[in-house]
Amino acid sequence: RVNRNDFLNALAEVHPAFGVSEEELEQVIQNGIIHFDPIVDEILRSGQLFVEQVRTSTRTPLVSVLLHGPPGSGKTALAASIASASQYPFIKLISPDSMVGFSESQKVTAINKVFADSYKSPLSVIVVDNLERLLEWTPIGPRFSNAVLQALLVLFARRPPKGRRLLVLTTSSLRPVLTEIGLSEVFDSELRVPPISNLVSLEFVLREVELFQSSEERRHAVRMLEDAGFALTAKEEDSSKMHIGIKKLLSTIEMARQEPDNVAQRLMGGLMGLGM
Ligand code: ATP
Ligand code: MG
Repeated sequence: RVNRNDFLNALAEVHPAFGVSEEELEQVIQNGIIHFDPIVDEILRSGQLFVEQVRTSTRTPLVSVLLHGPPGSGKTALAASIASASQYPFIKLISPDSMVGFSESQKVTAINKVFADSYKSPLSVIVVDNLERLLEWTPIGPRFSNAVLQALLVLFARRPPKGRRLLVLTTSSLRPVLTEIGLSEVFDSELRVPPISNLVSLEFVLREVELFQSSEERRHAVRMLEDAGFALTAKEEDSSKMHIGIKKLLSTIEMARQEPDNVAQRLMGGLMGLGM
């Protein structure tokens, strides 16, 4: 017979993992999501559909999705937002940042544990962040951790126990590498996270973060960039495009903010220096 104490013990067992992951997730999304392009909403909406699919479909107890795009395009923040919005009882982030100094086998153990823990919850979402770093991928050689790869191949394919459902959200900046090492077929779906590629999006971000005192100043800065050859509405594939991840753009903006005089020049210098 299960009594109240068993119940409380069970809660105590489950709660710390949940608490910790919430903190982790909050940290990742603390800067918020700026809706600088319709694609941002599309990605969040797709994520929401996967969340609903796992919640309601009995045929797909395991769904894995790859979010890929250039460095700093916002993959981690978007995956974390989707995970956090799911309101599933088990949400966990597997991040190479939390495994610094781990041996290969320690990593495998830690990854296995997160999946094993998820199997105890009826609904779980696991964010496997920065796959190539988790795999210790180096282009020289090329080299990577085969032990971690083998563990992930098994876990990504394993159906959770009966009555349990799991959504896996993985992020990577090196989509081609995943094909090379045989890791791309394991995903049920892929979402591409693009960089910012035109001035309309850039201006949207500038407005959102209130870098300039007035809209005149902001427009002046945008005009400077237009004069420098960047197009207002270019798509990513156009030649007049810019190419900058939201992460780099936000840090460039924060640097420009440190020097209130000549914010526009600072911003411009920062953006040009980033080779968009
Ligand atoms: P890396 O390639 O280094 O792993 P990343 O692609 O995972 O980078 P994030 O670490 O998610 O990028 O950084 C994106 C940053 O931009 C976060 O601080 C996030 O809060 C902020 N941000 C603002 N708007 C958006 C958006 N529309 N999408 C994603 N992130 C956004
Ligand atoms: Mg990331």
